[in-house]
Amino acid sequence: SVKTRGKGAYQFYEAKFYNALRERLKKETDIRNAIERDEFVVYYQPRVDVATGVTVSMEALVRWKHPTKGLLEPYDFIVLAEETGLIIGISELVIDKVCAQLASWAKRDATLVPVSVNVSPQHFQHADVAKIVTSALARHRVAPDLIELEITESSVMEGNEISGALSILQRKGIKILVDDFGTGYSSLSQLHRLDFDVLKVDRTFTAEVDRSEQGRVFFTAIVTMAHALGMRVVAEGAERASQMAILKELHCDEVQGFYISRPIPPESEQPVLARHFLPVPE
Ligand code: C2E
Ligand code: MG
Ligand code: MG
Ligand code: MG
Repeated sequence: SVKTRGKGAYQFYEAKFYNALRERLKKETDIRNAIERDEFVVYYQPRVDVATGVTVSMEALVRWKHPTKGLLEPYDFIVLAEETGLIIGISELVIDKVCAQLASWAKRDATLVPVSVNVSPQHFQHADVAKIVTSALARHRVAPDLIELEITESSVMEGNEISGALSILQRKGIKILVDDFGTGYSSLSQLHRLDFDVLKVDRTFTAEVDRSEQGRVFFTAIVTMAHALGMRVVAEGAERASQMAILKELHCDEVQGFYISRPIPPESEQPVLARHFLPVPE
């Protein structure tokens, strides 16, 4: 009957629901253990000056060296880590590792470039990011201008904890970058009020610059706005020479993407990393 079929369907969905919940709890426990066992590693992706091809900075990108599943990328664990607050533990490990790495590179080579670290909005809401960053810098004796912070455009909106922490950090010489620009809802007045240093344009826009007239027009508008507000512009996710040529023509300042280099494991020496770029075509 309809009634028993209904019950069967209900039990089916109930089982599915509990399986999904169990999976989620297991993954949460795995991430918690991974933080304790220090299973995270940081890769570095260069960001280069479009006009000169020189590496100006490198982005720290976390990976999870899972004991059985191999090297996991952020899409496998960042969302759950953000939802559960575990992102705070991960980010603190990343900030510490980046400072330790900068200190070790500094011993071997004087020509260091800064490293940018991604910070989630949850981190600003539940912890004192300014204090965590400045104490990591002090612990490893790293100069503040060697660290930059990336915050997503959507977290620009999230209020006072963030703007307070950001101005403390900026006063210490730490640059603040707006990440994934074009995907969130920040207004011109917020961008102006918060006085960011660099605007990283989301790769969905970079993908269009050499594909459509509209893509080109859109990117031009972002560059004009960013320059008017005193920010440098980075194109994220450049993969082709044809994008590089147009980005140069549109006065985009910097570029990051597989065309220049994929994220590089930390075993490499920074001087090698910093030279790891292809010349920008004329
Ligand atoms: P994001 O901050 O926008 O970082 C850029 C992402 O784009 C990286 O992915 C990078 O590998 C990828 N990418 C760079 N160039 C290209 C390209 O030419 N083509 C394509 N298709 N992709 C490119 P990844 O490493 O998987 O990181 C994904 C996201 O995870 C990051 O996006 C960031 O939001 C988050 N994330 C990574 N590391 C951390 C971290 O330490 N803390 C926090 N809170 N979030 C992190
Ligand atoms: Mg980023
Ligand atoms: Mg981004
Ligand atoms: Mg992104």
